[in-house]
Order: sequence, then structure tokens, then C-alpha cells
Amino acid sequence: MQDWHLIEKLAHQNRERIPERVVHAKGWGAHGTLKITGDISHLTCARVLQPSTETPMIARFSTVAGEMGAADHERDVRGFALKFYTEEGNWDLAGNNTPVFFVRDPLKFPDFIHTQKRHPRTNLRSPTAMWDFWSLSPESLHQITMLFSDRGLPVSPMHMNGYGSHTYSLWNDKGERVWVKFHFKTRQGHRHYTHAEAEKVIGETREGYQEALFGAIEAGEFPQWTVQVQIMTEAEAGALSFNPFDLTKVWPHAGFPLIEIGMLELNRNPDNYFAEVELLAFSPSNVVRGIGHSPDRMLQGRIFAYADAHRYRLGTHYEALPVNRPRCPVHHYHKDGAMRFFANAASPDAYYEPNSFGGPRQDSAFTEPPLDLNGPAARFDHRDGTDDFSQPRALFELFDAAQKDRLFTNVAAAMRSVPVEIIERQIDLFQQVHPEYGAGVCAALDALDPQF
Ligand code: NDP
Repeated sequence: MQDWHLIEKLAHQNRERIPERVVHAKGWGAHGTLKITGDISHLTCARVLQPSTETPMIARFSTVAGEMGAADHERDVRGFALKFYTEEGNWDLAGNNTPVFFVRDPLKFPDFIHTQKRHPRTNLRSPTAMWDFWSLSPESLHQITMLFSDRGLPVSPMHMNGYGSHTYSLWNDKGERVWVKFHFKTRQGHRHYTHAEAEKVIGETREGYQEALFGAIEAGEFPQWTVQVQIMTEAEAGALSFNPFDLTKVWPHAGFPLIEIGMLELNRNPDNYFAEVELLAFSPSNVVRGIGHSPDRMLQGRIFAYADAHRYRLGTHYEALPVNRPRCPVHHYHKDGAMRFFANAASPDAYYEPNSFGGPRQDSAFTEPPLDLNGPAARFDHRDGTDDFSQPRALFELFDAAQKDRLFTNVAAAMRSVPVEIIERQIDLFQQVHPEYGAGVCAALDALDPQF
């Protein structure tokens, strides 16, 4: 016991793991820069979005369902999370490579994730659970169609778009608010693998995304994305035929054109994966003056859930870790707890607010304009009168014959071993999107198993 070197080494080794993320556990990250080239200064006072501003940032891409050791080239939605170290504090945009999501009500999020994770008895992923939930949740059709289309299996993080997905808001010095969607369009082009190609790749490497992203940046081939926004006024939002705050919907480009505002480039690999990517913590609650939230219920749920996940995963003061802390001075009155290693903000006597000892003061200049709310307060019926079919239909109609065939085959392959009554319920939903969709999946199932 006197060999404390040995004891310290063993004790440290015992503590080398922290809880992995419940979702988005497998990830790949890099540092970069956001450059603003457009001018939306009339819409927002956020300095990060002013013309010619350059802001250091870090990105983390991820799969949703797989654990930390999962293979990179699995069909799954990809996380596309960005942390901007702005002059006014950190702005996080924790989005995906798709503009929509499977559910629109955060109450359903844990249920949905349970269907993507392991079955309690078999400890295996369960296609039955996935299709049971989806076939009982028609709002998932839009995201399912994207997931099983070509874009559901990008060859690398560089070859996919990113979307802020939620509706956020921008506000200016006059206190005027507009709604906004953020888009990040790959400049490397879209590239995807079929199932057969991905199986071959996974047979050769389970770390293809890390190799591609890390390798490209080491070689000086810096991936870039064009940054675009869609803007909607509060009056336009009130007059729409669909709910603009529904995360299962996009804003059609024809009504809400894409406005180019800048360029995102990743140009530096982390020196320490654990310290810079594993400890990296995003939360939609991190906004800066001039950028705000919206009544999107999924966004409201994530404002709580993400920061809460990090407090559990990393500790109370996770925001003070080097990769998470803002690059500008930050003033708060958080006190003790796990990882309280930072100095007092001002005089040690100023540990509450208001105080007479020169501590930082609450400042209403950072408060976003008030949001009018109306209607009865009750649990939201997330299916009430909602059209879950038109937007997946618009997507389906964009696909050419070969893309449709791959969609049908991908869906059918994922349905193997699912009970027939669940398959029939799902095909009925595909049928309502488009008769060709339902028939195509049926034909693909027949081709896999003529008994079907
Ligand atoms: P548009 O014809 O203007 O836009 C179609 C969009 O579809 C393009 O932005 C294209 O993305 C995207 N797309 C093409 N193939 C796929 C795929 N396999 N998976 C996901 N997206 C794909 O029409 P609308 O704006 O009226 O939208 C029609 C449908 O397009 C929507 O219902 C939605 O499903 C889909 N879509 C719309 C987006 C939007 O913000 N309006 C964004 C992404 C998809 P890109 O240009 O980035 O290559």
C-alpha cells in the first residue's frame, strides 16, 4: 500500500470513463471558423451575425442511436452540432443533417429513443420496436423517408448538409422579432453509400468518419459549408396552413427563400479527443443577444434536457471546462459544486445579486422582446388536425426512379423480422403519402421474401 505511484495509476485508470451520451454517443469533431458574408443586420443585433464577422467555433458530428463503439457507417440521422465562441458568449446550434425530426412532442422523445436502443430482454436492437412506434406515429413519415433515402447514409461528415432544424428567432435593437431556420449546405457535394457498400466499408473499418474528417483536415483539405437562413415574419407565421414551429415540417423554399449569409470552415483537428470532443457540451439554451428561441415544443424540451444531460454526464460546472467556456468574460453567480475550480468573478463579497460590492448586475438589455402567448394552457395534442402526409409526399416526388427503388429496398431490408400486422400498418401510412410508395415497399418486401 505504500507504493502510492501504483495506487494512483490504478485509481486513475479506474476512472478513465465517464457516462457516454444517451443519444449521439459516437461522434467526430473539429475546430473551425464562421465567416459572415451576407447582411441581415436589420434583423438581428447578434454580433456573430454582423457582416464580415469571423467567429471561432467547434463542430461535433454524430450518429444518434449507436453507442461509442458503434460503426460509423450505419444508417442513422447524423447530429450536426455547432458551438460558436462569439464576442458576446457562446451560441450553440445543436442540429442534425436533416431539417425535420421523428416526433414533434418532447413527451414522446424518450419513447422514440427507447425504440432505437437495445431491447430490455434480448439486449439487441429491435426493428419490431422501431416500426411499431413509427407505424403508430404518422408524424415520423417525413423523417423516415429521409432516413431511408440516399441521404440516410452519407459517406463522411463532410458530404452532408446540416440544419438547425428548429425554428429559432432573430431580434434587433428595436425589439423586432422574426422567425429563422438555419441551413448549412455542404460544398463537398452530397455523397452516400448504399447498404451493400456500407457493409463492405464497415467490414474494413468501423471508424470511417473519424478517418475521413481527421485525415482531410490533417491534409489541409478543409471542409466548408455555405450558411443560409430562411426568414418568416410573425404575421406570416400566423397566416400559414401548417404550424411553422412543428419540427416534423420544413418551410417550403418557394415561400421562404434561402438567403446566403456566410461560410463555415473546419480547419483544425482537436489535440485531445477526450478533452475537446467528449467533454464538448452543446445546449440550445446557449443563445446570445439577438438570437432567441420559438414556441417549437421540441426546442423547448431540449432547452432543459441538453443542459441537464451535461450536468449529469460532466458535472455541475461543465460550462467552465476549456472547450465549453466562452472566450469572452462571463459573469454569473453560480457557486459551489462539482468542478468549482474557477476564481471568484469579482470581489469575494459579491456572491449574490444585487450587491453593493461591485459585482456584475442583471441587465435587461439582454432580455429578448416579450412573446405574445394565447390559447388554453393544457397538454398539447400533438396530432390534432395535422397533415403528416403532404411534405413527405413532396420529398418522395423529388426522387427519381432509382432513388425511389433504393428507398423501397432500404425500408424493406429494415423490416425483416417485424410482425406482419406492424408492417401492414406502416404500409398503409406509406400508401397515404403516395400509392407508389406503398406499392414499392410491398414489392421490395416480396423480393426479399416471396411469402410476404
Ligand atoms: P424544393 O424543391 O425547393 O427543395 C427540395 C429540397 O429537397 C432541396 O433543398 C434538397 O436539398 C432536398 N432533398 C433532395 N433530396 C433529399 C433527400 N434524399 N433527403 C432530404 N432532402 C432532400 O422544395 P420545398 O422547399 O418545397 O421542399 C420539398 C420537400 O423537400 C420538403 O417536403 C422536404 O421533404 C424536402 N426538403 C426541404 C427543405 C426545405 O428547407 N424547404 C430542406 C431539405 C429537404 P439540398 O438543396 O439541400 O440539396
